[in-house]
Amino acid sequence: MSERRALLRGRFDLPRHPRPIGALAPMAFEEACTQCGDCARACPEGILMRDAEGFPVLDIREGACTFCGACTAACETGALVAGRAFPWRAAANDACLSKNAVQCRICEDHCDAQAIRFRLLPGGCSEPQFDAERCTGCGACAQPCPAGAISLHPFTPQPLMETRPC
Ligand code: SF4
Ligand code: SF4
Ligand code: SF4
Repeated sequence: MSERRALLRGRFDLPRHPRPIGALAPMAFEEACTQCGDCARACPEGILMRDAEGFPVLDIREGACTFCGACTAACETGALVAGRAFPWRAAANDACLSKNAVQCRICEDHCDAQAIRFRLLPGGCSEPQFDAERCTGCGACAQPCPAGAISLHPFTPQPLMETRPC
């Protein structure tokens, strides 16, 4: 692969869908996955669906991921590999009731990681703020949300700042 092509591939190889835990980077995943469905059948939570192209996708509207690893263990093609970070974090959109001055803290109540805090806004509104360092991307906050406001978004950890001598 040419250097330029590798660069372009790296730049655009961003995840579009939350795949089962352990998924390779998007292009490598779609090359390796045979769409056999073994991961979905192995998932005790029943939260792995097929996307429009037939690849497995984690649907947190159906429930939360416990990170048990059954999907990864069931995958025989190498599309899912144990030990890879899960690069997804939760966030709420503007349908959130609290953002619209309706009292609600349901998502916070369902987050075992204590990743959600509320910031008060003018007009009796408040905004759920998701701590990307605490959030595991489990999705347990999404299904109970009465507004259906929560979804997963790609997360790239920020590299540590390089310290240079003055
Ligand atoms: S078990 Fe592996 S190859 Fe089969 S659908 Fe799941 S990710 Fe794809
Ligand atoms: S549960 Fe949903 S509606 Fe309620 S505060 Fe959280 S994001 Fe907003
Ligand atoms: S996805 Fe899981 S860890 Fe992240 S905010 Fe929701 S419940 Fe908490």
